[in-house]
Amino acid sequence: MGDHVRTYTVAHLPGDGIGPEVTAVAKDLVDRAGTMHGFTIDWRPCPLGSKHYLKTGEVLPDNVLADLRKTDAVLLGAVGSEEVPPGVLERGLLLRLRFELDLYINLRPARLRPGVPSPHGSAGMDAVVVRENTEGLYAGAGGIVHRDTAFETATEESLNTRAGVERCLRYAAGLASQRSGKLTLVHKTNVLTNAGSLWMRVAHLVAAETGVQLDYAHVDAACLYMVSDPGRFDVIVTDNLFGDILTDLAAALTGGLGLSASGNLNPEKTGPSIFEPVHGSAPDIVGTGKANPAGAVLSSALMLSHLGEAAAALDLEAAVDAVLAAGGATSTDAWATALADELGRLGGVR
Ligand code: ATP
Repeated sequence: MGDHVRTYTVAHLPGDGIGPEVTAVAKDLVDRAGTMHGFTIDWRPCPLGSKHYLKTGEVLPDNVLADLRKTDAVLLGAVGSEEVPPGVLERGLLLRLRFELDLYINLRPARLRPGVPSPHGSAGMDAVVVRENTEGLYAGAGGIVHRDTAFETATEESLNTRAGVERCLRYAAGLASQRSGKLTLVHKTNVLTNAGSLWMRVAHLVAAETGVQLDYAHVDAACLYMVSDPGRFDVIVTDNLFGDILTDLAAALTGGLGLSASGNLNPEKTGPSIFEPVHGSAPDIVGTGKANPAGAVLSSALMLSHLGEAAAALDLEAAVDAVLAAGGATSTDAWATALADELGRLGGVR
């Protein structure tokens, strides 16, 4: 076969708002990192999002889903627009992709990077939140009866399967083993006694089997500790709703939405995982050149790590750290230039 370069097929789904602006920067840096580390990305453009929906009525057509299944990963920008009713794209595209591709882990690192001010002096915060991503209150169970009457009744049911809880806890324990060995389960076992019991019992079993040190906090207390004593957390594992809320708090404590990254993972790699910045479409700053691409770049670093390109992932992280340590940048273009320069410097010192 001779020399060959490692190639990954990655769908680029820029989506709406600032999604195209920030993922363009991330894409360029991934390609640069590939040149430095000996791999190439075969980017496949995927036009889904608000514009596509408004033009065609399509949210996630079967043939597009089939194409996405064949990729190694998806780099997503943001999805959402005021012109599309709430829920259409969130449920029909983002949540459906999570279910269809069985992306059962939502991974969000929350580290206060050097040079980043924190509103609460949360120095020492270096945690990772592992959020269950396909069950709980987001599974879609529930409904409305007696609509538009005085007796209208709306229910949302939290679905927690033993298999779903266990695979999430196992992933989190594996991650904890690679870090400090400490795993904190966050739930509300004193009120949500059914789901709480299942999570707690399985967490103890997994901890005993894997040797991780298991800690526990109720979700309300966890919010308080995250602000008052963030150093107590390393790997946090929690259900879908609590994870959604806790990760935004963690983002606020570590530099804000512009810096936060996430991965929706299928850890067994039976299909692609999706990587996206935590921020949304930010319609208020579209086209102003102000969007911070760091969250998208750090999401790409998670993607490269997942694809097995750990050295390239570390370089992207280091480039973001270096730009932040030097005071950050004030525009998307300035970020792009500064990150490319830092990456080039990292390549040069080898
Ligand atoms: P969506 O409905 O798509 O989630 P949103 O406007 O409700 O959009 P975000 O897009 O997350 O929520 O934006 C919240 C605020 O943070 C906005 O004022 C936005 O301008 C700002 N913001 C979000 N992402 C960035 C970014 N990458 N760089 C700079 N500011 C950002």
